[in-house]
Amino acid sequence: MTHYGIMQWVDLARDVAVEGEGAAMREHLAAGCVECSRLAAFCESLARVCHGMALREAPDAVVRRARAICPGRIAERPKRAFRIPVELIFDSFLVPAPAGLRASWQVGWQALYRAGNCSLDVRIEPDLRSSRAALIGQVSNHVTPEVEMAGVPVCLRSGKQVVAETRSNRFGEFQLEYEQQRKLQLCVYLDGGSRCIVAPLRKIAVEKPGAGKWDVANGNSPKDAEKNS
Ligand SMILES: [Zn+2]
Repeated sequence: MTHYGIMQWVDLARDVAVEGEGAAMREHLAAGCVECSRLAAFCESLARVCHGMALREAPDAVVRRARAICPGRIAERPKRAFRIPVELIFDSFLVPAPAGLRASWQVGWQALYRAGNCSLDVRIEPDLRSSRAALIGQVSNHVTPEVEMAGVPVCLRSGKQVVAETRSNRFGEFQLEYEQQRKLQLCVYLDGGSRCIVAPLRKIAVEKPGAGKWDVANGNSPKDAEKNS
């Protein structure tokens, strides 16, 4: 008796089996092959689960975490993008917090960069229980705000290594989760990747448990951005 392989059973379960072969395979099952029946049943239930999953949209937070674990490549990024000079306009660590104020985001860092016609708003919130952090950002064109900022490739790099990457939504907003490390740079690719904004990020770390104070461990100071501009 000739049996069928898993690829053929997968095709049958997905309803894409080669014409004629599907009928022969069903006959084979009807003839009572135990081995193939098991494989066919497995493929069928797998296809059912996959089909069910495809109908449900994965929550944003799950997608973000998955991307942080396995960052994909942004295919159409050219090798050399023109770096738009960046200027740091606001740094929450350089501004004393108003007396008595303990706004929730004060545990993190907020900055505003300006690069050409674009503004880049960045907020980093460290995870209090791990060395990970969440970055929430928005890129906008402050000269012509009507310029569409949807689907802009954004990535976080440590040297040449891409730590995390995503794309902006239709408001130019994006979120990334990553492992905190030194010398992180946020790269935003504009005009199909021909121009980019590279903004150095601060690393945020707890000084000591119970000290109740966030310490700025300078991977590279955002002040560097001014030197580059
Ligand atoms: Zn068989």
